[in-house]
Amino acid sequence: MKQIRSLCVLCGSREGTDPVYREAAIRLGRLIAEQNVRLVYGGGSIGLMGIIADAVLSAGGEVVGVIPDFLIRYEIGHHDLTDLVITGSMHDRKRRMFEMADAFVVLPGGLGTLDETFELITWRQLRLHDSPIIVLDVEGYWAPLLKLIDATIAAGFADPATTELFMVARTPEEVLQTLAGVVPTKEEVLTSHL
Ligand code: AMP
Repeated sequence: MKQIRSLCVLCGSREGTDPVYREAAIRLGRLIAEQNVRLVYGGGSIGLMGIIADAVLSAGGEVVGVIPDFLIRYEIGHHDLTDLVITGSMHDRKRRMFEMADAFVVLPGGLGTLDETFELITWRQLRLHDSPIIVLDVEGYWAPLLKLIDATIAAGFADPATTELFMVARTPEEVLQTLAGVVPTKEEVLTSHL
């Protein structure tokens, strides 16, 4: 597993009704910046997207946004980022975000976040990538999604190993701990070659 230098965060273009979602985005953003990990995200300045980008930037971190040209107006493209990549389509946006990241975190979000999350998980199932995917289940927000995936397995429509394609964290701190656990330290890499 390669070292995590860029983390792609998928999250809502809205803030949600409970302030815990906003707080989780801010905490995750600060932790990412402290670890010198670059944030890759959808490039907007609204909702949890804007909140996490601002949190990373104000903690001195790097942020790359990836946004299709037609969405710059609706999602109010963030103009203070380290870099803003403008794509011609949604598919290009997803491809560029996926190419630029070494791991993925899913914060609360809506249908767009779900679309991106399912693509990531199904592509991992098809062995098109092996990057870690961590679902940040803030106050049980993703419990219905996890239940739905369990139901697909129970009904025989998905392999029981599907749940091994992603990890679940309850707090932003746990996300970082989980990532540290899947990425071998320099010492582990060295000793594995002895
Ligand atoms: P949402 O979770 O619906 O607030 O959307 C989160 C992000 O996903 C936003 O930047 C949306 O533009 C993006 N999005 C929405 N639908 C799609 C889609 N079908 N494919 C890729 N991204 C999408």
